[in-house]
Parts: sequence; structure tokens; C-alpha cells
Amino acid sequence: MAYLNENYLKLQAGYLFPEIARRVRDFCEKNPDAARKLIRCGIGDVTEPLPQAAIDAMKTAADELGHRETFHGYGPEQGYDFLRSAIAQHDFRDRKIDIADDEIFVSDGSKCDCGFILDILGDQNKVAVPDPVYPVYVDTNVMAGHTGAPRKDGSHEGIVYLPCTRENNFVPEPPGGGREHVDLVYLCFPNNPTGAVATREQLTRWVAYAREHDALLLFDAAYESYVSDPDIPHSIFEIPGAREHAVELRSFSKIGGFTGVRCGFTVMPKTVLARTESGKKLPLHPLWHRRWSTKSNSVSYPVQRAAEALYSGEGRKQCRALIDHYMGNAKILRTACEEIGLKVYGGENAPYVWVRTPAGLTSWQMFDRMLKEINVVITPGAGFGAQGEGYFRVSAFNSRENAEEVARRVKNLR
Ligand code: PLP
Repeated sequence: MAYLNENYLKLQAGYLFPEIARRVRDFCEKNPDAARKLIRCGIGDVTEPLPQAAIDAMKTAADELGHRETFHGYGPEQGYDFLRSAIAQHDFRDRKIDIADDEIFVSDGSKCDCGFILDILGDQNKVAVPDPVYPVYVDTNVMAGHTGAPRKDGSHEGIVYLPCTRENNFVPEPPGGGREHVDLVYLCFPNNPTGAVATREQLTRWVAYAREHDALLLFDAAYESYVSDPDIPHSIFEIPGAREHAVELRSFSKIGGFTGVRCGFTVMPKTVLARTESGKKLPLHPLWHRRWSTKSNSVSYPVQRAAEALYSGEGRKQCRALIDHYMGNAKILRTACEEIGLKVYGGENAPYVWVRTPAGLTSWQMFDRMLKEINVVITPGAGFGAQGEGYFRVSAFNSRENAEEVARRVKNLR
């Protein structure tokens, strides 16, 4: 009999969203009337239609596939040049950030990239993860065998947790005041779930830490397009020195409504080095290139054309309209929670509103209460890490009608 990967057995009681889905299903089966009124502000999935520019580009690409002369088979494993170039130019070089086309690696989304990147990193790395944060960082490390036993509060031995609390505005400082060594640090700004953003000074401290400890920052910027404050960096590569110490993960999911279409990318500068067991320093770029060549045939041609179209004049306008729509919802939801006396964070440079539960309620109790009393699904903060206990996340990804209805219902919370 084949052996299984026992690391999977260390994973905590299911991934957060399946557990939410289970509770919602149970509730709906028992309360069919309430089920019809249910509004989901839980999972961070977009609701609005795809930008027309992306639809048109996909249709044109599909038509091309219908003719021998314009047919496309296997594409380059790292992504088509047209898309890598559009990304590097518009997202980076136009913003005076030095990124070459071949430092962009196209993928079918950031979630996959979170797992894939561990392929090229050693198992010896000491890993630091913000708490609370997008659960995929921890779970992929658990699966790869980088952690010890699970603890009761959902955390894992072997990981250095970086507490994100209201005292530090949900932006963690380097571990041990910068003295504790780790090799790999996950950072996510704008943050899921807290909606927090990091200032230039805070990111500069992280890059300085990475330089001092020869650490690698894995910077997840999936929500960068939601930053409206002109002083807040969109990319870690806006910080001098980051080219030597950071890899950035980006996604078209929340920018262009691509959660179902699937496309994202990593930025892997050729200047990022990592070490062998014997102490030799080598660039990660060739390993990442090789990883894609061997394990993938990239993303479909129509999807890459659709992603490229998001950078056109029309595409940009349509993405802007989507983002404005969701941020309008965030404002409505923020205000509603504030008006009933709850303490609210986030929702200003991110599509997530992070709310403190009323005194005495755990975040799962608040989840159950909102589900039962006002038929609204939120995400319990504890699902994102131990420090998320006492908070819940409200997603602004919804129709305006639903956001307004949630705002009305919130006032009826007893
Ligand atoms: N990173 C963060 C912080 C996210 O919140 C999400 C999705 O919710 C992702 C990555 C995954 O994005 P993708 O749809 O590109 O896999």
C-alpha cells in the first residue's frame, strides 16, 4: 500500500471556508425561509460581471483558436510575452519600478503560487506568518512538512507568528524587535482579513530586516489596486533594496473580477538569492523558471489575452469602476457597523471591513448570531489565526443592493 503525506493530517479542522459552508448549509436546511433571504459577506469572492474589455479579448482569442493560421497550442510555460510585458510595463516600469518582462511569471492565480513557491525553497527555512492572515500561507507550509504539531488555538508549532493587533494597527513589526532570525516572511498588504495597509516606513523596516537577516519576503499584493491613499505603496518593490529580498504575488482576481477566470503572477527579480546547505548563494529565478517549465503548461491563451486587455484604456476604466463599486460597499458596511457602536477597522484601502465583536462574544459566536438573527454570512476572525479571535470580517464584494440591505439588517442585531 502506498504511503500518504502525513503532514495533511496535521491540518486544522478543515480550511476556514469549508467550515463556514458547512454551518451555512446546516442552517439553510433547517430554516428554508431564512435561507432565501441569506446574504453572503463571508468568502472574498467578487460578484460583479467581468469587464467588457476582458470578455471581448477572450472572444477574439477563442475565434483565433478556430483557425489553423491563428491557432495556439502550448504556450510558453512562464506566460506569453505580450502579457509579461504588459504587466512589467504598466504595473512596474510606468511607476518607476525596475522590473524586467522575464521577471514576471504568469499563473492561474495567487493561491496556487502560495503553494508552488515552496517547491523552490528549502525545508529548513524558519517561517514567519502574520496572525491573523489569509490561511493559505500556513496550510501550504503544513502540507509541505514545515511545521510541528497543531495547537488547540489553531496555530502550529514551528511557525513564528507575527501578531497583528489593534495596538500595532494590524501591521506586524519584525520578530523580537528585529533581533529574532527567520528566513522567510509572508506579508500581505492591503491585508486579508484586517484591511490594514503598511506605510512606506513600515515596509522599509521589513526590507531592512530582510537585508540584515538575509531573509526573503513573500509579499502578497493581491489587493494592491484597492489602495486609494497616495502615500501607501502598492508594491514591495517601491522600497529600495526589495529587489534583493522580495518576491511579490499578484492576482487579477480582485482587480478585474477574475476569481473564476483564473490568472495571476509572481514577480521574481533575478537579484533574489537563496543559499544551499553548504552556504553557496544562488539566484532563485532559474529555479522558478525551471519549476514552471517542468510542472506547468501555463494559463490558457484566451485568459492571458483577457488579462492583457485589463491594461487597455477601456480595461483600466472598467477595472476602476469595479473597484469603486466595491469600495462604495465597504463604506456603507463600515458606517453601518460604526452606527451600532462596533469598533471598525479596514475598509478604506481594502475591500474588507474588520470589526470587533461585541463584548463577550467569540468570533464564531458572532458568526452564528449574524447567521441566525439577520441571515448574513460573515467570516469569523478566529479562522484567520488566534489573534483574529474577537473580530469578524465583512467582505465588500457584493451588489450595492445587498450591501445596503446588510447595512439595514445590522441595525436589527439584538
Ligand atoms: N492572496 C490573498 C491575500 C487573498 O485574499 C486571495 C484570495 O482571496 C488570494 C491570494 C488568492 O487569489 P487568487 O484568486 O489569485 O488565487
